[in-house]
Amino acid sequence: MNPYLQIAIEAVQEASRICRQVQAQLISEDTLIKKDRSPVTVADFASQAVVCRMIHEHFPQMAIVGEEDAQSLRQEENEELLAKIQTFLPDWSVQDILDSIDLGNGQSGERFWTLDPIDGTKGFLRGQQYAVALSLIEHGQPVLGVLGCPNLPYEEGGQPGTLAYAVKGQGTFVREMEGKRLKAIHVAQKKEQDTVRFLESVEAGHANHGLQGAVMSAFGRRAQSVRYDSQVKYAVLARGEADVYLRLPNPSQPDYREKIWDHAAGVVIVREAGGRVSDMFGRELDFSRGKKLSDNRGVVATNGNLHKMIVETIKKAQ
Ligand code: AMP
Ligand code: MG
Repeated sequence: MNPYLQIAIEAVQEASRICRQVQAQLISEDTLIKKDRSPVTVADFASQAVVCRMIHEHFPQMAIVGEEDAQSLRQEENEELLAKIQTFLPDWSVQDILDSIDLGNGQSGERFWTLDPIDGTKGFLRGQQYAVALSLIEHGQPVLGVLGCPNLPYEEGGQPGTLAYAVKGQGTFVREMEGKRLKAIHVAQKKEQDTVRFLESVEAGHANHGLQGAVMSAFGRRAQSVRYDSQVKYAVLARGEADVYLRLPNPSQPDYREKIWDHAAGVVIVREAGGRVSDMFGRELDFSRGKKLSDNRGVVATNGNLHKMIVETIKKAQ
């Protein structure tokens, strides 16, 4: 197996296990969960520490651009939080934890990793979907992606826990998180005249659900909407359980730009499964602009067949 893929899978799998432990322990202990974000903070930092340390150990020259950094954790007032993180990483010193998290402060360049240690934090807190997302970017495009989806079953009705991954030119696969089963996956072949399943964020603030509804209404009763948090949406699209992922920008935040770590892994996973991904205007996503997709607006991912039609429908619906 490609050594980058092998290590990326191991790292995401280990981080996903820790997230799962944090979710099980802290959320059940904490009745005031709606106000207290500590479980997600603990899991975010622990996940970033684990992935960064493993990537750095094997590929010390490669930069990692992660969502978190340890600056706030280094302050005295967060000693308790740091101790909580350490309970999930019992063999690590405090210094190891801080230094490993900060390995994710790398600069983007021609070739780098990007990491979202927990994508879909709101889903994580609700006990629903979230993902650990790691991707390798070369010359502005994701060429390898691994999504750890601890709450997504490998098959309908099965145990939760799925890993989806892709390497450019080699197709997309899903594996059981804790089992051995593995299979190649492909997007569905739906066309305009078929019933089309649309994927959207759960969080209203992360998209323009009004405009998305208008796009779907072009399909009349043939449109169905499914809502999931995080890049789990890309994995669901890649395995043909839905046909279109709409992420049109929320008009109340006109300056918001999508973050690279929120999309890189999912994009290569959908493309290698036969789908297409662009921004809302049909423009190619450009991952070479730093931490944000600053030259793009929104994201549209489809099974390929529907792409052109969806982009045209968005244009008319605005
Ligand atoms: P999702 O669960 O698909 O809605 O995606 C979760 C991600 O949405 C988080 O990781 C945030 O980085 C991102 N996010 C936060 N605010 C916005 C926004 N206004 N528009 C789009 N994405 C956002
Ligand atoms: Mg995220």
